[in-house]
Parts: sequence; structure tokens; C-alpha cells
Amino acid sequence: MKLTERQQHIIEIVKENEPISGDKIAHTLGLTKSTLRSDLAVLTMTGILDARPKVGYIYSGLGFQPMIQDRLSSLTVEDIMLAPVSVKQETTVQDAITALFMYDIGTLYIIDDQKEMVGVVSRKDLLRSVTMGNYQSAPVAVVMTRMPNIFVAYPDMPVLKAAKSISRHQVDSLPVMESRTSNKIIGKVSKTTLVNLLIELTDKELDA
Ligand code: ADP
Repeated sequence: MKLTERQQHIIEIVKENEPISGDKIAHTLGLTKSTLRSDLAVLTMTGILDARPKVGYIYSGLGFQPMIQDRLSSLTVEDIMLAPVSVKQETTVQDAITALFMYDIGTLYIIDDQKEMVGVVSRKDLLRSVTMGNYQSAPVAVVMTRMPNIFVAYPDMPVLKAAKSISRHQVDSLPVMESRTSNKIIGKVSKTTLVNLLIELTDKELDA
């Protein structure tokens, strides 16, 4: 659901002046009450405003849910992606583990000499190779998940679609590819990115 600018304006007026009658809201906006009827109906039906007979409209405090949805559905991967960390496929498992600590991340993207993505290595992949021994000199290419079995995102992909892909495929992150015809990585979207976005959106709403 998307709130119109006028509906958002009405919420602001009610927040500042509650309880406030429909007539007064209309007066503040320089409109007639009948013009506002459908907006007020939407805002009360969604539970954002509470209409109390003989008292007026009151802000219920429940407004954040549809608004978060509004903001979320307008965001694409490009708006929230972070810089990816890539290493070459010859990198040893030991150096890959060091990179995880150095960059404080959980996933490394593996690239070839043309800087094209060839695989993904996660914490568990590296742990597994440690338990198998010989990890000091073994290249990450031996333990990585390979293309084309990698779930990816694109800059113009809606954030919710990327979140669903992460959840459905049970991975921690998606590499963001330059385009549908390129294997160059330009970013990443991870579970952490999504949690931080949720907090940011909710905080803005609670501060509003
Ligand atoms: P962890 O292993 O630390 O729990 P993940 O859940 O991300 O991290 O990784 C689980 C498995 O999925 C690993 O074998 C990893 O190589 C692979 N993997 C990670 N990200 C992706 C991805 N975007 N697409 C496909 N496979 C992935």
C-alpha cells in the first residue's frame, strides 16, 4: 500500500493537534471535509488514525507498518549494497581465513584474472577445509561454491526480491553483478545489510 502525499500530511496534522476534528483538518489543508472523506477512510481503515465520536481523530501510533512497506518497496539493491571483498582463486585457504578477520566479513567472492566472479567461499566452506587438513597451501578454488550455482542480485533488483532470495536459498549474502550480461561484482547484499536497513527504516519512523 502506498500513502499519498496528502494522507501523509493529514497524519502529521493529527500527530501535532490530536484530538482534532475532520473539519479542522480540512481547514488546515484549505480543503472541504468531503474532499478528505476518502483519505480519512483509508487512514482509519488501516488503523493509522483512530476516529473517536465527539472527540476527533487520534494518531494510533501504528502508522509505521504501511510506511515501512512504502519505503521498502521503493528501494533497489543499488541503494543499500555494500562494497564486496574479492580474492583470486589461487589464494590459499589460510589467507582467505585471514581476509575474513581483516575485513570483518563472512563471505569472500572469488575472481579470475579478468576480475570475473568464479565462486563464493563462506565461513563454513573454510571451516570444512580446515577439518580436512592441508589448508595452509590449498587454494580456495578447491572449497568454493562455483558459478553457475551462485545466486546473485542486480543493481535494479527490488530489495525485497533480494531478501527473498537470501531467505529461500539459505545463504548469508548475494553478490551484486554489474549487469545481466556481466560477471563483474560491484557490491553485495547480506543479511546484515538487511537487518541494518530494517533498523534504519524503523528508527526514522519512530523518530517521526
Ligand atoms: P555459512 O557457510 O557461513 O553459513 P552461507 O550460509 O552463506 O554461509 O553459505 C552456505 C553455503 O552456500 C556455502 O557452501 C557457500 O559457499 C554457499 N553460498 C554462499 N553464498 C552463496 C550464493 N550467493 N549463492 C550460492 N551459494 C552460496
